[in-house]
Amino acid sequence: MVRASEQQPNTTIQMPFPNKTSAITTTPTILRVHSVESFGTHDGPGIRMVIFLQGCKLKCIYCHNPDTIAMDGGMECDIEQLVAMAVKMKPYFGKKGGVTVSGGEPLLQAKALLSFFKRLKEEGIHTNLDTNGRILNHFTKALLDDYTDLVMLDIKHMTEEGYEAVTGMRNKETTFNLAKYREVSGKAMWLRYVLIPGITDDPKLLHALGRYFKAYKTIERLEIQPYHQLGVHKWEALGWEYPLKNTRENTQEELQTAVAILKRYFKEVTLN
Ligand code: SF4
Repeated sequence: MVRASEQQPNTTIQMPFPNKTSAITTTPTILRVHSVESFGTHDGPGIRMVIFLQGCKLKCIYCHNPDTIAMDGGMECDIEQLVAMAVKMKPYFGKKGGVTVSGGEPLLQAKALLSFFKRLKEEGIHTNLDTNGRILNHFTKALLDDYTDLVMLDIKHMTEEGYEAVTGMRNKETTFNLAKYREVSGKAMWLRYVLIPGITDDPKLLHALGRYFKAYKTIERLEIQPYHQLGVHKWEALGWEYPLKNTRENTQEELQTAVAILKRYFKEVTLN
């Protein structure tokens, strides 16, 4: 079975014919998909087809979709079939809606997403990328610059120690570098921030988040995602211990405090 991460991009392959060089261009045709939601209203503007891609290198302690983490799970889906699904849904998208790719981490399949988003743009469909921002390379830059109308970037934590505690990985700067890259491109971005009691809701962290991004002109919105335990049964089904089983949900007062702090820095702050 061919894994999506092994698919080739628009690669020029040099063929070893004697005395001459020939070139064949191959284009990825497959995305590795966990699931598809037809009428999503929480993952970007308007009504959206949301495609959850398989595979993620992080293991966030609150992950709602831990079954998307394994690189070899999910199913292989033909890009043209996904495009056809999106085209059928186009009448429902209205002026704001479109297609969101989420996960898992979509940028792990950036080469195939280049093909997919290019086709969606040819069909006049709005494209949105929901990402943890861990990969910034030739392919992801091309995807962001040429075919991604909106980036929704997950900010996991404002300190390196906190970032590692939440995601299991070091180097939060990778995500911030992607934010900087998007800012320079001048194209639209939303930030998303999960408010975990006792872990990410300290007012000092919220002010640090606001100060870091307050000069960014491309950020249209900051979405606070209240903490809840919706994914816990999936952790149990995988035989994994859920790290936040003793963590409570946010109170209304805590949510409103966070909104009030972040409104000092961002033009639009929403609770998702
Ligand atoms: S980045 Fe997203 S999909 Fe990956 S582990 Fe974190 S919450 Fe789950």
